[in-house]
Amino acid sequence: MESNGGATDVSSIRSEIETLKAAKSDIEQRISVLEAQLRETTINQQKTDTVSNGTCRSISTVYSDNSHGLSPDMIYRYSRHLLLPSFGVQGQSNLLKSSVLVVGAGGLGSSALLYLAACGVGRLGIVDHDVVELSNMHRQVIHTEAYIGQSKVKSAAAACRSINSSIQIIEHGEALRTSNALEILSQYDIVVDGTDNPPSRYLISDCCVVLGKPLVSGAAVGLEGQLTVYNYNGGPCYRCLFPTPPPTTACQRCADSGVLGVVPGIIGCLQALEAIKIASAVGEPLSGRMLLLDALSARIRIVKIRGRSSQCEACGENSAFTQDQFRNFDYEKFTQSPQFPLPLKLNLLSADSRISSKEYKERVDNGEAHVLVDVRPAHHFKIVSLPNSINIPLANLEARLHEISLAMKEEEKHKGSESSSGASVYAVCRRGNDSQRAVQYLHKMGFTSARDIVGGLESWGRDVDPHFPTY
Ligand SMILES: [Zn+2]
Repeated sequence: MESNGGATDVSSIRSEIETLKAAKSDIEQRISVLEAQLRETTINQQKTDTVSNGTCRSISTVYSDNSHGLSPDMIYRYSRHLLLPSFGVQGQSNLLKSSVLVVGAGGLGSSALLYLAACGVGRLGIVDHDVVELSNMHRQVIHTEAYIGQSKVKSAAAACRSINSSIQIIEHGEALRTSNALEILSQYDIVVDGTDNPPSRYLISDCCVVLGKPLVSGAAVGLEGQLTVYNYNGGPCYRCLFPTPPPTTACQRCADSGVLGVVPGIIGCLQALEAIKIASAVGEPLSGRMLLLDALSARIRIVKIRGRSSQCEACGENSAFTQDQFRNFDYEKFTQSPQFPLPLKLNLLSADSRISSKEYKERVDNGEAHVLVDVRPAHHFKIVSLPNSINIPLANLEARLHEISLAMKEEEKHKGSESSSGASVYAVCRRGNDSQRAVQYLHKMGFTSARDIVGGLESWGRDVDPHFPTY
């Protein structure tokens, strides 16, 4: 081959591919139009046959005689769906006959539910046991401020009903557990997982395997999201991909790790799309593949994932995972993480190494010479902090101990410490756990007077200054 022949070949191949793709798209469109015409002709033919057989029909019966069962209101409401050649009457009719359960009316569930209600899924179930909070508002767009403090299921159901009163919305205002999951999931054709913790993911996936339901799974943390469809048409389940749970520390949860609101919104929309495709039998669901979204670089990648594993404990060839086994499986023990985590409350120190936020306030007011070390990460410190605190994140404490010594000397000089013991040291954090770890370390390093502020800044906001922001 000639040296410049390669370049010519590449460009001519590319050009031919483009031409063929254009032709393919034209052909597919033509097929859809012809199929729609064929359906129309068949229906008209049936009508003519019936009339010529001697059955007399009024004009109104002829108009409403359609095999798809869409009422005039439905035809008008979903007209933009019906006008899609590749979706059309059949797709909409399938959708209206389908039922979808969305577990979690949070960030993912919000956008998924809004679109599933709008598009005309016949029966839409919502599972959630939580209440709406102000800190949900930036991402859980199905809820409004008027519902703060009220049940998320009620709020989400009301939003769905206000969009589409013609479909059935079912509220399951309870936490999904092994004791009720089989009963709830068995009422639906498709399950959408909008939860955010390992025990729930395994529980929902296993339940779908046991019941033979497709599962549309989504996740969003920080600025990244992912999406796939499990247990569909012989494809893998969640356990096929993750036979052993991830280490507990690797499981970030948005309550503590932060998430840009729009990211779960996008993934939730894509979950609705996959559920719609499965329900309407249109398109190719994202089974055996995973979509990865990187919001910062606006990159979406689709990677092939492993197929169904014959060794899988839930869906493998030799697996006999039964409904009874599911009911008795301890998902929290298996994943070593709680399904409904309560705020962590460590108790590492003796009482005389701790001080309440109220007592700390009194000491500040009395002019006690002291240094307050805020051991939260720097980006937390930027949100809000107590006056005169110095920020040394727990992870940097070892390297920055000298800053505490310096600050103590400075404080003693200013306040002319009356006691011989010099300035005292207090440690504070968001909720009072890291501050205990810090004090343990400070004691070890010779700062024997160090104490932690019990309950951290949360207790300051609760017990000392109600205007102090919480986050
Ligand atoms: Zn499996």
